[in-house]
Amino acid sequence: MRCVYCNSEKIVKNGKSNQGKQRYLCKECGRIFVENPERKHYPDNLKKTAIRLYTDGVPIAVISRSLEVPYETVRSWIRAAGEKAIKKNRRKEKSLSEQSI
Ligand SMILES: [Zn+2]
Repeated sequence: MRCVYCNSEKIVKNGKSNQGKQRYLCKECGRIFVENPERKHYPDNLKKTAIRLYTDGVPIAVISRSLEVPYETVRSWIRAAGEKAIKKNRRKEKSLSEQSI
């Protein structure tokens, strides 16, 4: 069990949510989250495909639709992959329309 926001293991139980789910407090980032969030586990290569498509200039909305992964999830993968590296790559393809992240 790790923090859904910062992936820290420094979490403590923090009562129950309204739905009766275990709630946790992250001592690292101070956020509260609920056990078993609505978050599926996607295979690593799907993640890599999404990131590659993004660096190729495909908008997140299109990646989301074609891979059947929620927009927010795709966006979080791209964030995690390091926006710096991606921006560096994208600068070469200025002509492509910018999709706001
Ligand atoms: Zn945290």
